[in-house]
Amino acid sequence: MRHSFHRQLVFTIKDRCRVCFTCVRECPVKAIKIMNGQAEVINDRCIGCGNCVRVCSQGAKIPLRSVDAVNELLQSKSKIAACISPSFPAEFEEIPDHKMLVGMIRKLGFDFVTEVSF
Ligand code: SF4
Ligand code: SF4
Repeated sequence: MRHSFHRQLVFTIKDRCRVCFTCVRECPVKAIKIMNGQAEVINDRCIGCGNCVRVCSQGAKIPLRSVDAVNELLQSKSKIAACISPSFPAEFEEIPDHKMLVGMIRKLGFDFVTEVSF
């Protein structure tokens, strides 16, 4: 039996899917199949690029949203660490100094900030 070890990053809302095949064609890693009358994401293949979310005219593809879970963590009494991906300089181009980013994340309520590979 095949197991999936990562969380599903994109979901399909079945009622909204018109089975137009746009997302199937546009997925760069062929991770979408028509199954049970909807365009389903094959979790093991999906790289979470978000392309299907962008191209679906029906709003049937919904990305995983972890904002609420993070907010809950921040409001808890536990010590919270933010592990930042090494690709952060590309995502936060407008922030000239990485120390500034660390300060911003600390201000959100994280107790520790570290780069994930470190
Ligand atoms: S693009 Fe949207 S409507 Fe078309 S098959 Fe994919 S999920 Fe369904
Ligand atoms: S997020 Fe990207 S890789 Fe995943 S199913 Fe959508 S288009 Fe394919």
